[in-house]
Amino acid sequence: MKYKYTDYHVHSKGWSEDVADDGPTFEDYILVAEEHQINVCFLNHYELYYIEINKNNPFHNGRVNDYLEEIDKLKETYDFILSGLEVDYYEDREILLMEFMDDYEKELDFIGGTIHEWIKGYPITSKERLSSLLDKVPMKKIIDDYFEVSRKMINSKIFKNICHIDTIFRYINNNEFKPEDDCDVSDNRVIDLGRLCIKNNIKIEVNISGLKFPIKRTFPSLNVVKKLKNEGASFFVGSDSHSLQYFENKIPKLLEMYSYLDSI
Ligand SMILES: [Zn+2]
Ligand SMILES: [Zn+2]
Repeated sequence: MKYKYTDYHVHSKGWSEDVADDGPTFEDYILVAEEHQINVCFLNHYELYYIEINKNNPFHNGRVNDYLEEIDKLKETYDFILSGLEVDYYEDREILLMEFMDDYEKELDFIGGTIHEWIKGYPITSKERLSSLLDKVPMKKIIDDYFEVSRKMINSKIFKNICHIDTIFRYINNNEFKPEDDCDVSDNRVIDLGRLCIKNNIKIEVNISGLKFPIKRTFPSLNVVKKLKNEGASFFVGSDSHSLQYFENKIPKLLEMYSYLDSI
């Protein structure tokens, strides 16, 4: 790659459904990345479950090939971009996910495994959907299930990189949905997941998007990052951008994270 540092996690218009219609295209990111001299990895959502059932999903019907073609064409001009996907883990689709990885792992530069939901239609990364889930399921069970599914994802060894390993705390924290007394929200749980990543040779994301939420910290926290780094973990840094302004504004923070990782 041309530059020293990389933002491994940006979403682009037309390929991630949670990017606005006037959101950033590949080229929009490329121009800003070049100006600030960083590499950029497109990490759009690849949600197998929704790709199967929703004809309007950008990746429905093998359109991942169009995605790769578009990025490959841009690579002819720009040598600081990476093709990637943020692939959702579903416990009941492990075989399909493995087949997908067999077919595409070599085609893509970077694949990050991720968990947004395990009960279909209730992503814990949506405040509104999490709130509905909390009406039905005790908070303790939601948190425990998150860690259980995460453990399964890591142990499945499907992915070599894992995104935002403690994103369950995006909204469950003292500033939003306050953890109830019986909930274990300790760093140790996150560190245990990180240790599993170390054991399985999986890289962990320092996802800086948490800084924009009331929790105001990275996923995972810098304390956890430091502890895991000292135990041998490898990290990559992602802004999780869905807009161009956010992407550009976060570049100093991204670089700060890389120097933090170098310093510990
Ligand atoms: Zn995500
Ligand atoms: Zn993302």
